[in-house]
Amino acid sequence: MSVSLYRKYRPTLFREVAGQDIAIGILRSSYAERKIGHAYLFSGPRGCGKTTAARLLAKIVNCQNPTGDGEPCCACDSCTAVSSGSHMDVMEIDGASNRGIDQIRELKSHVGLASFMGGTKVYILDEVHMLTTEAFNALLKTLEEPPPSVMFVFATTEPHKVPVTIRSRCQHIPFHRISTECMVARLRLIAEAEGVSASDSALWEISRNADGALRDAISIFEQAVAISHGEVSQDSVRALFGGGSRAETERWVTLIRESPENAAASLKETLDLGVSPERFLDGLFPLLRDMWAFSLWGEKAFAGTSLSPDEKDFLKTEVPNWRADVLKRASMAVATLFPRARFGLRSDVFSGLLLFEMLNSFESPAASDAPALAIRVEPKPPRPFSAQKPESYEPKRAEPDIKLSSAEKPKQQTAEMHLSDMNELLGHIAREDITIAAALIDVRVLREDDSLKLDFSGASKAAKVALAGARASGILESAFGLPPGENCDESGPDNQNPGNSGMTSPATAAGEASQMEAIAARLGADILMSRRLDAEDNSTEDIDDELF
Ligand SMILES: [Zn+2]
Repeated sequence: MSVSLYRKYRPTLFREVAGQDIAIGILRSSYAERKIGHAYLFSGPRGCGKTTAARLLAKIVNCQNPTGDGEPCCACDSCTAVSSGSHMDVMEIDGASNRGIDQIRELKSHVGLASFMGGTKVYILDEVHMLTTEAFNALLKTLEEPPPSVMFVFATTEPHKVPVTIRSRCQHIPFHRISTECMVARLRLIAEAEGVSASDSALWEISRNADGALRDAISIFEQAVAISHGEVSQDSVRALFGGGSRAETERWVTLIRESPENAAASLKETLDLGVSPERFLDGLFPLLRDMWAFSLWGEKAFAGTSLSPDEKDFLKTEVPNWRADVLKRASMAVATLFPRARFGLRSDVFSGLLLFEMLNSFESPAASDAPALAIRVEPKPPRPFSAQKPESYEPKRAEPDIKLSSAEKPKQQTAEMHLSDMNELLGHIAREDITIAAALIDVRVLREDDSLKLDFSGASKAAKVALAGARASGILESAFGLPPGENCDESGPDNQNPGNSGMTSPATAAGEASQMEAIAARLGADILMSRRLDAEDNSTEDIDDELF
């Protein structure tokens, strides 16, 4: 029976460990300075090399002829025994299946015995966070005063679940997710050593699917080798994953822009081939996110992604055909489908929903010739907020709807805010603060007859916070051409209510209302009505607290 590639290519030296330079560097320098501790806690995601590093540590402290640069010799009895897993003094214990106090007592009695091979006894406890509280308590004493020549290495994916009493007695060394680039390089080495030809795109697809776990990447690669008869290509990866690769998703995104009807047919074909809705979304969302980031920041966006050269080229050629707001809306819409896909959706229902959401993203308000900004229908009639009822208004009270500039006020102006105006405005704000510009995309405004409606209800919580911050920082005022600290001085008798003397604060609803009015005036219209930021929720006090 052949050895799995993961075991075959497990690092035998510290310098062979991929993508963990910091953690390995700490271990190597501790060894070089003869400062190896008696207890370590290795934390990090699964498959990222924690156990490998623990074994290397066990190897180096027991090696009979360590090399000058602090690597094990890999030739002495001790090294070969550790490599084959037969070293009598190196114990690997699975914390998940030995989590009780009895097992830990047994371990403690073992700890007291002299070492078999005369070196350091190393106990490697995997998944240590699974131990019971009693088991942890039983360990404490041993950790505090360990017998000489005994070392513990605890490995965990969830260090926060390890009691602080244990953590404080260990040297904590965090391991990180391994970058896609690093995994591709490692797979390339393995492919060459195995005499297997593998295309770049296939290795990228495999590595991305491994999600930071090199062990998974190597296992997937091994399966791809098995089904591809020595030539790992995009097709073999497709056969392995059942479709839905990045390249296919890229083609679909281009298709939906160029000819949505063909995109519908292509989606059906993909789903018929057995790609689950969830998997399709798993590919589509990161692609749209990358496109959106590229549309905003150009090549600087690559710093936040793991993309092959081909995938970067795709962004460079495709993204100029898209607008940032369309990409953002499409990403958000796709994100809303995730929970539904996870609960299971029939493929025809899913494809209908996805096409609807994607095409809806194109029909952005800003894309049409009609009013530059759009509206959501108010579910409730607005409550008057006008000179007629100043006394009834209290800024911090739960009050979803506010009516401004009541209908009695004759309309003098016509709102004419076109795409170019809105783009100019967003561009101006973006130069000040990109997050506020992004948040404003969600604030919907519609010209209806002679009035504008502003609606914050579609804005995400993050956007609301950004907008609140924008009001506080005065960026909005300056963008709309208002003097800083603009308040509700012009909103009439409301201001004369003594209880509202603090209205200049941007935190007050009145301040917000006047701001909207001022913004509307700048846009060339009065506001008929608007909505509080927290329109969907009547517990305004709580939300106000959160926002301000
Ligand atoms: Zn050795």
